[in-house]
Amino acid sequence: MEEKLLNYIRNVPDWPKPGIQFKDITTLCKVHTPFKESCDRIINNYRDKGITKVAAIEARGYVWGGVLAYQLSAGFVLIRKPGKLPYKVLSETYELEYGTDSIEMHIDAIEKGDKVLIFDDLLATGGTARAACNLIENAGGVVIGIAFVIELTGSLRGRDKLEGYDVISLIEIPVEE
Ligand code: AMP
Repeated sequence: MEEKLLNYIRNVPDWPKPGIQFKDITTLCKVHTPFKESCDRIINNYRDKGITKVAAIEARGYVWGGVLAYQLSAGFVLIRKPGKLPYKVLSETYELEYGTDSIEMHIDAIEKGDKVLIFDDLLATGGTARAACNLIENAGGVVIGIAFVIELTGSLRGRDKLEGYDVISLIEIPVEE
């Protein structure tokens, strides 16, 4: 099952810069069967967990996020790069290999006690997902789970940053150093 999904991922070497092996999920979501399977596997995992909000990270996270929210009878929350959201925001800054990055969410996107499923297409270092957890929790939400289509395993140790959280990924791809 896992191998089948992996076959739909396109590896693009040296994009967006030399040395990066970019995992392109557009080749998976453009085909109905693997796209449906990837959505269904996450939905089935969280169906009985009382999720009230799905929060997804721009932009590829939105492709799955809306489907997950609809099927889990939850609301959908947009987590965006700085300066994109029109109303007042909560912001969270996190470390990159060189420098920092930030993500934002509307201050009223999450209500106290909301049970939140966070979704992003890919787990690498875990910095983005961890920042998303902080955003949700600072707003009074409870992170029930964090789901990814792809997890890069090995030296990046993304799961370490998400210790204590329920993390699922559908495809594991080892990273060679
Ligand atoms: P990180 O915060 O390091 O876990 O990075 C995760 C975010 O960066 C996700 O939103 C991914 O879409 C993107 N990303 C990081 N590395 C890759 C990669 N090798 N291929 C595709 N997307 C990536």
